[in-house]
Amino acid sequence: MANITIEIVTDGNIEQCRDLCNELMAFQKSKATIAPEAFDSMNFDTRLKSSFKRSLHSQLVVVKDDEKPVGYVFSTIDRVSDGDKSYIPDWAPVKIGEKVVGLYPDWDDLPEKVGCLSQLYFRDEYRGMGLGSKLIGMAMEWLGSFPDCDLAFVYISNGNDDAYDLYLRKGFVYSHDVFGGFIKAACHRFKNDKEDIKMGKNYDVMNIGTFKGNLAEKGRVMARQKLNLTGSEISFNYTPSGQYTPFVHAHKLNEEVYIVVSGSGKFMVDGEEFAIQEGSIIRVAPAGERAIKAENEDLVYICIQAQAGSLTQATNDDGIILESKASWMES
Ligand code: ZN
Repeated sequence: MANITIEIVTDGNIEQCRDLCNELMAFQKSKATIAPEAFDSMNFDTRLKSSFKRSLHSQLVVVKDDEKPVGYVFSTIDRVSDGDKSYIPDWAPVKIGEKVVGLYPDWDDLPEKVGCLSQLYFRDEYRGMGLGSKLIGMAMEWLGSFPDCDLAFVYISNGNDDAYDLYLRKGFVYSHDVFGGFIKAACHRFKNDKEDIKMGKNYDVMNIGTFKGNLAEKGRVMARQKLNLTGSEISFNYTPSGQYTPFVHAHKLNEEVYIVVSGSGKFMVDGEEFAIQEGSIIRVAPAGERAIKAENEDLVYICIQAQAGSLTQATNDDGIILESKASWMES
């Protein structure tokens, strides 16, 4: 058997994936440990067809065996309005009034247009043929071809750990938990010239511009999703003189280190307040109830968060001196 062809659907015939989409929803339900019943309202009509209509652009790639559809990948480019950020669909297993992150993360700099690798499925008997990689590759190529869209999400329903691992291997990084973990979202950032991000095999480099120019304008730049950081989150913050974050916060797992680059202000932990200025470095344990304020001068600070207790070796224990040389070293 196996006379496999892969076709990009250009005639709008999405109906050919009706059965496959319904199978995917049933498969996700069978894997789910959180609210499997929520999948009962998901089917071809509510998921693929509605999304195909609603999105700015969409691409459906179908795998056929002897002209019969056996798998597909469906991707979209969507506009994210403010309403979308807090939107909770009917099927979301969320209690009324519960505050959860939805389909989109609560980043300050979430772009207006985002890509989504929405659905990937092929039947069991076609596993082990590299179809998953091939389809993800085609979806990513299409998503990356939009010059005004540099970020793509993929949503993995709970319990589908194999799929999550596959996406991580394909260059996605964890983004956020949707509806309290019912869905896990991962993201991938495409090369973006205007933000000056460069990606290499073993590195990512970005330039956020000058602190007093570019950062002052933006207020905050988060580095994790731009640099694909896997062990920490780093934010660069500019708080004008006299201003402050209007709430006190703590963390569940992460220890934070605040590094004051310039300016001066006040810091509070668990009700205790102290002055900070250029050169102040403050570690706060996850449970610490913290707040920060700029006083007489604008405050520029970097905040690094990483899971408390996760560091098991550092510097001399972890570093390896190598024989290779940089061009500026004498050989
Ligand atoms: Zn924090």
